[in-house]
Amino acid sequence: MQQILEGVFYIPGQDEFIPDSHVYVIGKPTSGDLTLVDAGLMGKGAYKIESIQKLGLSLSDIKRVIMTHTHLDHIGCLKEILNEIPHAKLWVHTKEAEPLEQGDERIVYGMDMFKSMCQAQYNIKKDAFKFEIDRKLEGGETLKMGDMTWEVIHIPGHSQGSIALYNRSGKILIPGDVVYADYAIGRFDLHGANGPTLRDSLLTLAELEVDVLLPGHNRIVEHVQPGYILETANQWAPYLT
Ligand SMILES: [Zn+2]
Ligand SMILES: [Zn+2]
Repeated sequence: MQQILEGVFYIPGQDEFIPDSHVYVIGKPTSGDLTLVDAGLMGKGAYKIESIQKLGLSLSDIKRVIMTHTHLDHIGCLKEILNEIPHAKLWVHTKEAEPLEQGDERIVYGMDMFKSMCQAQYNIKKDAFKFEIDRKLEGGETLKMGDMTWEVIHIPGHSQGSIALYNRSGKILIPGDVVYADYAIGRFDLHGANGPTLRDSLLTLAELEVDVLLPGHNRIVEHVQPGYILETANQWAPYLT
């Protein structure tokens, strides 16, 4: 774990046979207003909480958790984390907030075969992923948090309610599972996913100036080459039809 830039901390996922998403903590510590981006896989809550403390950050300063999307590898330990910071609010895009509130777990598991496998492996209980969402995001919001400004961009395609957080002044992009380092993109075969929609979302992101790419998995990129996201979108375009 490390501070990447002022107001951006990185807690790498600890992958098992299912990946564990990275967590980013955003906000300047002096502000007393920190945000967690994503949670991670089941059983990883204690690791994420310990990592926050090792970074010298105070749990009481964490005011909210914003989910880039609600796949199992991102939301699995959300309850574990919220048990430690019960005051934190939960912000999710409305397209995934509503299914979560209704207990529709297709958005979490993506496919039925995966659901039964994970429920057996992790002994997941009924309604494990039923949450009340404090703020439903739409995309287009400008969030002033922790003495920083983050724009919310709705980028469906990997999932219906995927969002990116973008800090324009620092050219920092947190795109969830939509685009990764090394010309990789998120899968587009799960519940609610759609190839052409993912392509449109990649093209939306390609319009941003991005120096620092902080994806949900795999390596982070601190000096993104110009045109990287557009090139990635173009490489994948033949498959996103
Ligand atoms: Zn995902
Ligand atoms: Zn993921």
